[in-house]
Order: sequence, then C-alpha cells, then structure tokens
Amino acid sequence: MYKHVLHDHLDGGLRPSTAKELAESINYKPLLDIDNVESFFDRSSSDSLEEYLEAFTHTIALMQNYSSIERIAFEAAEDMHLNGINFYESRYAPFYSVNNEMTPLDVIDAINSGFKIAENTYGIRSGLILCGMRHDTKDVINVANLCLEAKDKIIGFDIAGPELNFPPSLFRESFKKVKELGVNITIHAGEGDGVNSIIDALDNGAMRIGHGVRIIEDINSNKPGETAKKIIEQQIPLEICITSNIHTNMYENFDSHPIVDLIALGFNVYLNTDNRLMSNTSISKELEIAKSLGIENVENLLKYSASDSFFD
Ligand SMILES: [Zn+2]
Repeated sequence: MYKHVLHDHLDGGLRPSTAKELAESINYKPLLDIDNVESFFDRSSSDSLEEYLEAFTHTIALMQNYSSIERIAFEAAEDMHLNGINFYESRYAPFYSVNNEMTPLDVIDAINSGFKIAENTYGIRSGLILCGMRHDTKDVINVANLCLEAKDKIIGFDIAGPELNFPPSLFRESFKKVKELGVNITIHAGEGDGVNSIIDALDNGAMRIGHGVRIIEDINSNKPGETAKKIIEQQIPLEICITSNIHTNMYENFDSHPIVDLIALGFNVYLNTDNRLMSNTSISKELEIAKSLGIENVENLLKYSASDSFFD
C-alpha cells in the first residue's frame, strides 16, 4: 500500500542537528549558545500560539540560501521515506526566503532539487504546495501571482498563518486566479476558527481542508449539519494533525481530540504531521497516537488515493 502525507510544513520540519549546523555555518547568534536545540524548538508545552510561532523565525532564518534549502528539503523527504512514506506533499511560504541573492523561483528550484535527490535515492515522490501567509495580504497576492510562473514546479496553493480574522474570502480574487490556472487548492481552516471558516474555504475552491477538525462543531447529537453533510458526502479530505492541535491549545489532550468521532461519522480523514520539529513528532508517532485512541488499521489514514492527492 502506498502511503501519503498531505500536510507538513518544510520550515517546521528541520532536523535539530541540521538547524545547529546551519546556524554555525552562517553564525546565526540566537542558536549558537543553545546546547539542546531539540528542546529549544520543541514547543509542545507552549502557552500561546505566539510562543509556538516564534520558533519559525529561527528556522526561516536558516533557509536563506540555495544549498541550505536544498538540504532541508532533501532531509524532509528522507525522513518521510524512513517513516514509510511514498508520497510527500510539503508546503512553504516562498517569499520568506527571498533576499538579494534568491528569487522566489530560486527558492522553489532549491526545494525541488532536494526533493529530486531524495526521489533518485529512495524513490519517494515529493511535491511543493506554495503557502501565502494570510495576515500579510501582499504575501498572499504575491504567492498567487507566482503560481502562474511556477505552475509546472508546484502541486498546490494554500494559505497559512493566523486563521481568526483572516478568512479565505479576503483573498477571493487570488483563489479565483489560482483556480483558473488549474492549480490545486487546500486551505488551513477549522483550526483557529470554526465552521464558518470551513464554509468560506470551500466557497473559495478548497479541494481539501487543512486541519478542518472543527467541522465537529457542525455535528449535533450525531447528526451532521449542512456543511458537515456536504464534506462527508463529497468525501472532501481533512488533513488532520493531532499533536499540532494539542500544542496550539485547541484540545487539552489526545483523548479530547475529535479524530475518533470524525472517522466514525464517515469523514475522509488523513493523518499528518504539520510541524515535526516544533511538535517533536513524526508520522510514525502520529500513527502510534491514533492507535492508542483505539483507531483500527491506522495505516489507512495515510492511504494514497489518486483523487485526494495533488500529484498528477
Ligand atoms: Zn499547517
């Protein structure tokens, strides 16, 4: 059986040892004096989303040249391969690595080059979903425009960042443009905001929902409301990331996470990692957690399906 990861952020998945080495190579001060880089990045007990997100400023600081980005992409794909994955969909906000020496297309080329090396070495297929950061309107517009130039180098488009107060419809024109290009769309929704945000994502062309867990709020006494019903009937994939949801304080613990109910209700659930470094997780760990919650045949939550995949 082919196994597939749909939702994993490249800047959230550096190996701690690589982060340390890259920091030394560019003399990046905030990390130089840190003895235990792994626990520095582990935000599993963070009190706020801000504290969780602060970790990304450091990984992005290490992703400012071609060879570092290529290495990070290769290692992400290699780690996925070592976890038994055959198809890896990775995402990144390319403009966060743009500088005097790097254009957005250079960033994409560096990532794809790392992926290609991993494919040639291990056979794992990896593809890039471009992210626009929703709290930065200009960034989303720039990334949507970049989709035209980069159409053949990417597998999809997404918006990430703080969901509350930044609904997908703020970027209606951008989504329209991307859709017309034939680029696949997934949208982070139903994580920091509720059912309305999921409805808005679907209205703006989302073929999959990043997280989407809060669709559970559209279930009353086991009966799906209008949106939940639509998502079940159309089997729209939910890119579920259990550990990440606990770490951003959405749910108190694994037992209170709704994944078991979502599966029982017939949603099309996939298991994902989101940010392996900050959440100190891997797809193998997520499978163990799912198993511990009583889910049977957990591997089915990674099952490759041509209709849900963004690969051709
Ligand atoms: Zn995410």
